Amino acid sequence: KLGKSYFVSLFVLRIVAKDETQLSLIKNLEDMVEFELDFWRGVTDVATPVDVRVPFHSLQSVKIHLESQDIEYVIMIEDLQVMLDEEQQEMESAARIAEPRNTDSFDFSRYHTISEIYSFQDMLVAENPNLVSKIVIGQSYEGRPLNVLKFSTGGTNRPAIWLDTGIHSREWVTQASGTWFAKKIVTDYGRDPAITAILNKMDIFLEIVTNPDGYYYTHNSNRMWRKTRKPNSGSNCVGVDPNRNWDAGFGGAGASNNPCSETYHGPRAHSESEVKSIVDFVKSHGNFKAFVSIHSYSQMLLYPYGYTRTPCKDQTELHNLAKKAITDLASLYSTSYRYGSIINTIYQASGGTIDWTYNQGIKYSYTFELRDTGRYGFILPANQIIPTARETWLALMAIMDHTSKNTY
Ligand SMILES: [Zn+2]
Repeated sequence: KLGKSYFVSLFVLRIVAKDETQLSLIKNLEDMVEFELDFWRGVTDVATPVDVRVPFHSLQSVKIHLESQDIEYVIMIEDLQVMLDEEQQEMESAARIAEPRNTDSFDFSRYHTISEIYSFQDMLVAENPNLVSKIVIGQSYEGRPLNVLKFSTGGTNRPAIWLDTGIHSREWVTQASGTWFAKKIVTDYGRDPAITAILNKMDIFLEIVTNPDGYYYTHNSNRMWRKTRKPNSGSNCVGVDPNRNWDAGFGGAGASNNPCSETYHGPRAHSESEVKSIVDFVKSHGNFKAFVSIHSYSQMLLYPYGYTRTPCKDQTELHNLAKKAITDLASLYSTSYRYGSIINTIYQASGGTIDWTYNQGIKYSYTFELRDTGRYGFILPANQIIPTARETWLALMAIMDHTSKNTY
């Protein structure tokens, strides 16, 4: 079982192209929907392997397809079910311990359910009423609140920084890191001069569970769920890729018009309430200076654009700041990141979050891909949550500090 009620699927293949010809043959696999492949990491360039989860029923066909074209692959994960069972067991044994009564006793080294994260948020607000408040910017398709934590030391409509985690629900290390960031902000305010200076000038908004229906589903039905949970008319396949649904090159190359695809862009731009709620909030706020959307995995820090090869007008500044951020990140555990524009660093992707925010005038628009580079992929062991959050925080601080110092 994959999660609680899904088909058996034990293998993640890592496919390596020798040249551009093989790369395009691998790319063709994306269109062979009958194989029901799940691209954990899509086709980028010859230097970057492709990671794909193959359901048991297609394994032989995929192997034959690759071998007949002399394309090399290795089985990267052949014990996915074992990894999922271990993760599940860790969570269940953690849940047997009494629920935390305050955010000091919250266990940041475990993955948590949506209700645990929502009560963490409420505790954090109750403990820090002069610094943190909770805003509900909308509701998900299934009716869950879209909660955003606002960190503010006063003022009216101050210039602001947006952070979100978990817009792709299966990227669990991101929601876990987001929870840690929230605690870090309240712990460091008034102690650490850098975050104190930022918060004395700007507000920080943090949406931890950006795709709550998907997150609930990863805990209760299918751990590998990425998209929203809204049914698609005329199809049995559910959900839209909320990172292809924004009105920036919407529907162009690097998104799928097939509702069964993991990168389905949806019937129209902003069709998903999880996306539309952020769009409305950002527009009505009108004073965001930085927007950071956090994904996993691959260890990359990316800036616009994804939908076009035309460099964005702030490319030099965004590039230099990305370099500073990943250098700071690496100073802690030597974790190595690649950086650059989305289209030059991963692949063409249309309708992405930060292309839209950048086009709205939010200059410091970035996307992270957190740990790892594929050994565990989305099933990153829980003992890596705190190290991941700690190192990422250094990069976030570099971006927020630069934003604050360049906001007048
Ligand atoms: Zn993602």
